[in-house]
Amino acid sequence: MTRLTGPEIRTTCPYCGVGCGVIARPDGQGGLDVRGDRAHPANEGKLCSKGSALGETVGLSGRLLEPRIGGAEAGWDEAIDLVARKFREAIAEHGPDSVAFYVSGQLLSEDYYVANKLMKGFIGSGNIDTNSRLCMASSVAGHRRAFGTDTVPGLYEDFETADTIVLVGSNLAWCHPVLYQRIAAEKKHRPALKVVVIDPRRTATAEIADLHLPVAPGGDAALFNALLCEIADGAALDRDFVAEHVSGFDAALAAARASDPALTGLSERQIADFTRIWIGSERVVTVYSQGINQSSSGTDKVNAIINCHLASGRIGRPGMGPFSVTGQPNAMGGREVGGLANMLACHLDIENPAHRDAVQGFWASPTMAPGPGLKAVDMFRAVEDGRIKALWIICTNPAVSMPEADRVRAAIAACPFTVVSDVLADTDTTRLADVLLPATGWGEKDGTVTNSERCISRQRPVLDAPGGARHDWRILCDVAARMGWAEDFDYDGPAAIFREYAALSGVAGALGRDFDISALSGVSDAEYDALDPFVWPRSATRSGGRFFGDGQFYTPDGRGRMLPIVPALPVSRLAPETPYRLNTGRVRDHWHTMTRTAKSPRLSQHMAEPYLEVHPDDAAALGLVPAGIARLSNGCGEALLRVLVTGRAQPGSVFAPMHWTGETASLGRIDALVPWVTDPVSGQPESKGATVAIAPF
Ligand code: SF4
Repeated sequence: MTRLTGPEIRTTCPYCGVGCGVIARPDGQGGLDVRGDRAHPANEGKLCSKGSALGETVGLSGRLLEPRIGGAEAGWDEAIDLVARKFREAIAEHGPDSVAFYVSGQLLSEDYYVANKLMKGFIGSGNIDTNSRLCMASSVAGHRRAFGTDTVPGLYEDFETADTIVLVGSNLAWCHPVLYQRIAAEKKHRPALKVVVIDPRRTATAEIADLHLPVAPGGDAALFNALLCEIADGAALDRDFVAEHVSGFDAALAAARASDPALTGLSERQIADFTRIWIGSERVVTVYSQGINQSSSGTDKVNAIINCHLASGRIGRPGMGPFSVTGQPNAMGGREVGGLANMLACHLDIENPAHRDAVQGFWASPTMAPGPGLKAVDMFRAVEDGRIKALWIICTNPAVSMPEADRVRAAIAACPFTVVSDVLADTDTTRLADVLLPATGWGEKDGTVTNSERCISRQRPVLDAPGGARHDWRILCDVAARMGWAEDFDYDGPAAIFREYAALSGVAGALGRDFDISALSGVSDAEYDALDPFVWPRSATRSGGRFFGDGQFYTPDGRGRMLPIVPALPVSRLAPETPYRLNTGRVRDHWHTMTRTAKSPRLSQHMAEPYLEVHPDDAAALGLVPAGIARLSNGCGEALLRVLVTGRAQPGSVFAPMHWTGETASLGRIDALVPWVTDPVSGQPESKGATVAIAPF
């Protein structure tokens, strides 16, 4: 590996949605020296354990360096020809909906944009979905229902100006550590800042909590309905804001009044303590993450939270508002460029004929997806039942990370033609590919990402692309060219792609959408390269800041929408044969399926193997001993896990991390036990609601 340019390069961490700025420099030994970027607004120089170990993860061991066809090395020309021919044949014989792309929230926005353009505007299908579906699709759906667009209203700095921060279904200390550090530092400096943690588990995040509410699995909507009733009955109700800027208040309140607080699993005293704190601070931010989103009623939970902020008018002003934090580094960028099956680029709606026409006109494309495509679980269902004839998986490992992972693995293996673009040669998913395409990884890639507060940052190359690896956007353009659309995908670099979607965002802005960075549509390559992190919108008329403080929303009547929410428990019911609720999630020092973080020995020291958190009473009843092995099973699969007996777990609920993988259950491949149960609005899987049997092994 060689250094590309100057001594230090400003770039962005590739892990969580905090989106920390990183300064990296080759260390001359195949690694990188890495430190936090003090000039980046997300982290001001801080990095967590994962970010600071990035330099240890860039070695070439295990890298895929040349294309492979049927396991044998091949040239790029041959591989691209084959991919283009197989996709063309499937489309000609079975129609555009017989092909699909499954992509990733770790793609850069430029990669994501090109994939979306190829599938929706040229192939003519909506069948492009992303592993971000597993992360924050319920937030997207909740935003769109309440605001008319997928808009995050607030900014990170609200965490430091709030008087109360409520963290719901979010182990921020492990999953978004630098944001947690910002809150912890503010609380130390200003002890009056109240922190409430709502989570069935007593996680590391609860260490700074004034109040921890061990809500019952699925009880969140009932808790926020109870809060809405208290808001409506007291001084926190902002009658003027509701009268002038909100619709649906009466129906939402009626549903809240009919809601049973017992579903929260909390005492009257605990609920009263929560509502008193929330109502007592005008500046309140409600932060939520996968504990809300990964649910069969995740969209309703999001709207139950937003309802409270709309009724109290606590939105879009400093120190207040609902705040979705995304799991992945570029989940937000993917949303901006239309990487979900049910969205178009630049927050335009795929269901809206005028929006489809506008995008097709802008692209001058031969066709346009007539409507939404298959969302992640439905996409793999279609692979399984043979409707998908050609599948391209880019930058993700669904044979481990998808619910019912064993079923997904079998479905991919049986797909007539599967292409996988990856940085690694040997993953659970690459083993299933007919064609493997070597992609560049973090440290080599070049483009932009958007973090959870709408801040767009450059991710810059620090190292040369190794071997024959190519950028994902380049591979997609090469295939598009072989399919007959060379002129439409003739970009000379990521800056050209960025300019194109910045220009498209101007079209979206003219159609009344929120995402508008059209002021940047004329940036030169040099200006793009030097781009400093910025929070959108960034148009001729508006820059940065919060949304909705002025009471103007993107719904047809311009009002924020409150929705009637009927709380629902997880779909999988506890039963004598599966009497325990399985919660899944992340650990502090690993990321996704560990294809990068496992390269760092010090990251593996935190949690060396897959484990099961189980309450002492349950452990005693089951005959489980600390450090023994537990066997989990249900109708979907099984896993073997090291036993961790801890009071952090609730009786009846167990927790297992999502990262580990392997050919056998002994390696704790936990998503094999998560069923294909999804939220009917967002399509997000219920990754925290499986039921399992547990026995000593
Ligand atoms: Fe990277 Fe997230 Fe850690 Fe920041 S908090 S260094 S973005 S993993």
